[in-house]
Amino acid sequence: MKIANKKVTAERLVKDALAKAKHFAEYNIFTYLNEEEALKKARKIDARIARGEDVGKLAGVPYALKDNFLSPEGETTASAHILQGFVSPVTATSVAKLEAEGAIMIGRTNMDAFAHGSSTENSYFGPTLNAHDKERVAGGSSGGSAVAVALDIVEFATGTDTGGSIRQPASFNGVYGFKPTYGCISRYGVVAMASSTDCIGFFAKTPEDMDLLMSIASGQDSKDMTTLPDYYNDEVSTELNSSRARVGIIKDFDNESVDPEIREALKTKCDALKSKGHEIVELEMPALKYALAAYYIIVPAEVASNLSRYDGVRYGFRSEKSDDLDALYFNTRSEGFMPENKRRIMIGNFVLSSGFYDAYFLKAAKARTLIVKEYEKAFKKCDYLLTPVSPNPAFKLGEKVNDPVAMYLEDVMSVSLNLAGVPGLAIPAGKTKKGLPIGLQLVGPRRSDKNLIIFSKELI
Ligand code: GLN
Repeated sequence: MKIANKKVTAERLVKDALAKAKHFAEYNIFTYLNEEEALKKARKIDARIARGEDVGKLAGVPYALKDNFLSPEGETTASAHILQGFVSPVTATSVAKLEAEGAIMIGRTNMDAFAHGSSTENSYFGPTLNAHDKERVAGGSSGGSAVAVALDIVEFATGTDTGGSIRQPASFNGVYGFKPTYGCISRYGVVAMASSTDCIGFFAKTPEDMDLLMSIASGQDSKDMTTLPDYYNDEVSTELNSSRARVGIIKDFDNESVDPEIREALKTKCDALKSKGHEIVELEMPALKYALAAYYIIVPAEVASNLSRYDGVRYGFRSEKSDDLDALYFNTRSEGFMPENKRRIMIGNFVLSSGFYDAYFLKAAKARTLIVKEYEKAFKKCDYLLTPVSPNPAFKLGEKVNDPVAMYLEDVMSVSLNLAGVPGLAIPAGKTKKGLPIGLQLVGPRRSDKNLIIFSKELI
């Protein structure tokens, strides 16, 4: 990573990052600043460098941690009221790997509570502001992480992507955001949203930095049975990247519901790819039209199950009003969850209930299989797909927060990747006339993560 080569001390880097974090306080990026610990670690690394020790690939690099990654540094709250006061006794595998390479967490970043949302407005701490326009949303759910990188406070930040939560805020703020293949990075120690689609990933400023982070974080973990063997660091064929690639564009996405400036940005990038000798292939992927509906059945079902553990006994906040156990559960959950969390718990329990299970959950599971097959078919005709991340650039604060369906429609182009488990990289692709960043996503087959990141350099 370029920062690791800078001729400065780790202490200086950490002090600068903390000063910037404070300078941009009005953006509401951080839920916690890790000042004392971060400075202590920086001084330790400087001392080790002075002794000539090997300090790791990310030595002294300040980073920001999405508030749903467990570590004993600061409270892990997932920006939810119900987790206020919770200090984790364990550290997420991904965090442990970054820290083992010398990375230094300077703060935890704001997010939609429990990662439910597309704007970071569902946070208990209030919204994060967009890095390019303070009247607009940061995107979500990893809004704080995206803005921390976009405003150059840190070199990279962690994120989670269950249905677009890395790619959409990356595109709203003009940085790279990567959702790997499902199972590439361990989910151990990350607050679960929907376990069958949750992915850990990063925000970074260049494909090179993204590659380095992926090479560190990926790999099998005995604490997460869904992790894959470490294919990311296996020898990969770069033949595909140097020669002519076939890049698919999805015709079904080219319609009036997509902002004309975003459609234009996609065309411009396709022309640039053609002039570099790559081939553009037009595809139809009709099964993707079921993705949003299937996602908003499968994910709430898993959310309802994963959130059942927050009972006021084991973690964080406990309602004071209760004098028996049932009331304790009831009041803690009523007071502790945000409205969007409750909406999902209710939808999830409804679609799983007997009598409705076949009509909703089972049907959605079948649609998911169709989507998986649609991607398999597409990747027989092309090596990568290039699509918008979302139908519009960053919208105004408050514009969609009271209209759940409008908010869910934000995810229409991102969720199918999560249902299929395929990787997607959000790439900065210019700005609108109003100066708002535009993002495109490069999508590849499962386990193509490394090639995908390397190929994205063709789009710079
Ligand atoms: N916006 C999507 C949702 O609200 C995605 C969330 C996520 O990826 N964590 O479900």
